[in-house]
Amino acid sequence: MTTHGPADFAGQHITVAGLGVSGISAARALAGLGAHVTVVDGGDGDKQRAAAGELTAEGISVRLGDGDTLPEGTELVVTSPGWKPDSPLFAAAAAAGVDVVGDVEIAWRLRGPGAAAWLGVTGTNGKTTTVRMLASILAAEGLRTLAVGNIGTPIIDVVLGQGKNGEPPYDVLAVELSSYQLHWAPSVRAHSGAVLNLAPDHLDWHGSMQAYAADKGRIYEGNTVACVYNAADKATEDLVREADVEEGCRAIGFTLGTPGPSQLGVVDGILVDRAFVENRQQQAQELAEVSDVTPPAPHNIANALAAAALARAFGVRPTAVRDGLRAFHPDAHRIQHVAELDGVTYIDDSKATNTHAAEASLAAYEHIVWIAGGLAKGATFDELVQKSAARLRGVVLIGADRALIGEALARHAPDVPVVDLDRTDTGAMPEAVREATRLARPGDIVLLAPACASMDMFVNYNKRGDAFAEAVGELTARDH
Ligand code: ADP
Repeated sequence: MTTHGPADFAGQHITVAGLGVSGISAARALAGLGAHVTVVDGGDGDKQRAAAGELTAEGISVRLGDGDTLPEGTELVVTSPGWKPDSPLFAAAAAAGVDVVGDVEIAWRLRGPGAAAWLGVTGTNGKTTTVRMLASILAAEGLRTLAVGNIGTPIIDVVLGQGKNGEPPYDVLAVELSSYQLHWAPSVRAHSGAVLNLAPDHLDWHGSMQAYAADKGRIYEGNTVACVYNAADKATEDLVREADVEEGCRAIGFTLGTPGPSQLGVVDGILVDRAFVENRQQQAQELAEVSDVTPPAPHNIANALAAAALARAFGVRPTAVRDGLRAFHPDAHRIQHVAELDGVTYIDDSKATNTHAAEASLAAYEHIVWIAGGLAKGATFDELVQKSAARLRGVVLIGADRALIGEALARHAPDVPVVDLDRTDTGAMPEAVREATRLARPGDIVLLAPACASMDMFVNYNKRGDAFAEAVGELTARDH
């Protein structure tokens, strides 16, 4: 069953799984449309009770302490990202013939006639950066647009807010789609979609690499103009081949090398388009210079090319690609320049919470003192260390799973000095930064790119990056 338009939810009995940020926003939006909403959550702590109190006062039912049984009369289940597909609630829904969908699916079903087209971005790393670059490019073209997904306003609220208060509706949305969201969004049909890269991540949620890839590949389903893939990552191209797209939709690659026909790439420091040009066998169109992209690290040039490909698929002019890229500045904690002290540059890439992301930032610099460690989430570090060993001036290890990285270093980079910090209190980061500074030489980069999650020592990766910046701030020239 696929419903379209806000009216379709009025009177429906909807169960929302999870009393978190996305669950609360979905519950409120659906109740506002006249649905009978029950939120269920297995937890029953103070936080949940407080949230439940607020929702109950708004006429939304909440059931705490049982996230497994399906409330009587449920016609649709709306899930939150944290809930695994094998959760008992979903088995109960399947047995009762009830659909399970996520917030993105709801947002899609709420779109009215003439709603903004979606340009979708997924991938293991680079999604947020790429949708923000894309939105910047679309805005430079003069289009009304917004970057949505795991950033800013929840997607349901964006779609519902369309054209309210007399504001003109959006022309196009740059939508970040995680593998979780794609898993639960069966009817989303983006105008064009991109898979930036594919590396093992969140396998505990999806069950296998194959299932994870298949969910990512959903972004291409029903594309009308372009399926954008990474020419350096064959798995992304395979997903295009397997996708069921609209007649005439094209496969468009991006590469850091010279592009072939139907690709975007880089020639002599210039980002060029050999896909959306008249005579692509003979010609390429200049879009921007590598130096227009901040930071101009290889993986970020790849993000810029993917954003450019989606924008060009939507008909954006080359000059708007350049202007949009120039206007873009990355979010905090993503290869963020913190300071330069005595010739040593301090870079915060706290957002590098997996090995694939850390590999990208380590590849961006020549001589690095690397601060790494935290929660490994089941990852192994041999490949990362092998690929990066030649660039490492030294390593400072922090966090719960630091021994895993230490062992990989001992195997593949035995000559690189390693400082192992076995403390996880608030003083750990200043000490890590002091040790890193001691190992660094003028011209080197001290890089926080932990390749691990932060929750063993910090509330989140933002706080970890803030602690790094603060510790750098405390350094004086005397420490060198
Ligand atoms: P996401 O939204 O997918 O988590 P972000 O744009 O927030 O992605 O970046 C997450 C991390 O991945 C950052 O640490 C960044 O340095 C790294 N990264 C960004 N783009 C890429 C890419 N194309 N390939 C590999 N790593 C990347």
